[in-house]
Amino acid sequence: MAIATVNPATAEVVAIFEPFSAAAIKEKVRLAAETFQMFRHTSFAGRAEIVLRVAEILESEKEKFSHLITTEMGKPIRSSRSEIEKSLQLCRYYAGESERLLADEYILTDAQASYIRCEPLGPVLAVMPWNFPFWQVIRVAAPAIMAGNVVLLKHASNVPQCALALESVFQSAGAVRGLFQALLVDSSCVASLIAEPEVAAVWLTGSDTAGSSVGAQAGAQIKKSVLELGGSDPFIVMPSADVAKAVRTGVTARTLNSGQSCVSAKRFIIAAEVYEEFERAFIEQMKCLQVGDPLDEATQVGPLASREALRKLEAQIDISVSAGARVLLGGCRVGHRGFYYAPTVLTELVPSASTYNEEFFGPVAVLFCAQDIDEAIRLANDTPFGLGASVWTNDELQCARLAREIEAGTVVVNGLVASDARFPFGGVKRSGYGRELGVYGLREFVNLKTVHIQDWCSPETMEAAGASTCASPVLAETEQRPVRRVSASFECIINNTASGRSAE
Ligand code: NAP
Repeated sequence: MAIATVNPATAEVVAIFEPFSAAAIKEKVRLAAETFQMFRHTSFAGRAEIVLRVAEILESEKEKFSHLITTEMGKPIRSSRSEIEKSLQLCRYYAGESERLLADEYILTDAQASYIRCEPLGPVLAVMPWNFPFWQVIRVAAPAIMAGNVVLLKHASNVPQCALALESVFQSAGAVRGLFQALLVDSSCVASLIAEPEVAAVWLTGSDTAGSSVGAQAGAQIKKSVLELGGSDPFIVMPSADVAKAVRTGVTARTLNSGQSCVSAKRFIIAAEVYEEFERAFIEQMKCLQVGDPLDEATQVGPLASREALRKLEAQIDISVSAGARVLLGGCRVGHRGFYYAPTVLTELVPSASTYNEEFFGPVAVLFCAQDIDEAIRLANDTPFGLGASVWTNDELQCARLAREIEAGTVVVNGLVASDARFPFGGVKRSGYGRELGVYGLREFVNLKTVHIQDWCSPETMEAAGASTCASPVLAETEQRPVRRVSASFECIINNTASGRSAE
């Protein structure tokens, strides 16, 4: 695949980039490994300084980066601004919280001291998609760096300028050259990158096809992988729901980022009692969406990101219709230039259609009618994916049951599914494994090292072993179990009633 910027609004080739040579890639990997040996010892304060500076630069140059995102992958400009804002907030969250979230955890045992220490993994390869070209990268890079790792970015081939812009943001933020490097390479280089001995782990956000390939390659090298893959999220509306609100939110959920979001609602499963009301209002609102130039502030749906994306979506609609699906709205391209596809509503998509099990990555909603909650749950789970789910009901029992029985990484009741820096984000089934965001996402980037110190040793020895001088605040706050504090005088053991041993 060519590494090039093609403006999706005009189909014009803006810039073509020469892929890195094998020697250049090797040199970048070597530099990453060398930098890691130094950076792993940088204090949390030192790491936070860089990440906070990244946030500052994103904030001060928001307009420039938003414009770049929009012209490179076609997202409406207001969404690009939100993406930059969300990215910088994430930097601030991890800069502020990582030291606390990665603190040593002391556990009372019969050893003199037992603790769990979070240590960085090494150079991390981030294979990233184009749909949120800043957010997806920052979502990996900020926690990876706060945990003491260095990052090699292999961005999607259609957003090379975003990749280079991100690299320059990190450099301007004071990062040494090897801390965050963008590799202009296509997907054919990923297997050899994973196989480089210096590369410790790989994070992929992308399609399940790419996920199965990257997961297999990482497995063959016995390296850690975290896979954030596609979704075909259900949006379930039960009879007790506020239907008008569900319709408004459903239209937003389906057309956000021109329909190219992993967690946007894709399959609308509507209770029979409210189906007609929902369908009528949903079509009405999808029809009113403003499709057009993504740089226009009023645009709600821009072009798809690439010609390939447009062709794939068109083919999916053709296959669905040939298998018996009905097009209630749209189902065609818009305009004569650029990669525009009309907001589309399909119904009667049958399980025998190959597209029934696929993700529609564009502004295409598929409606299903469910006779009762059992059928709604069955339809919701009748997909190879399990990323997010939005559930609409005002019935407490139904709410609890839907939240429990939907197979997904996130369930939101009466609202839009969106990631939040404080909560784990990821999926089950073909939506991948591992988590990003929050404490669980941060800890994916570390080796959880268990340390037992069995015999008496002096405070100096303890310090040399790296034991910190206070117990984990996380454990202290959340666990009522005894916590062993290792102080400079090495005498302070609190609540050690469960163990016969003490250090005194
Ligand atoms: P994609 O085609 O899978 O590409 C994603 C990245 O993987 C790109 O850098 C791509 O490189 C690379 N890649 C593709 N095939 C590969 C292979 N066989 N081996 C190694 N690397 C490979 O996905 P996309 O079209 O860019 O992104 C859309 C998909 O990502 C959707 O399915 C969406 O749902 C999913 N997504 C998931 C999340 C999440 O958090 N779960 C978030 C955003 C998007 P090239 O560009 O060079 O081909």
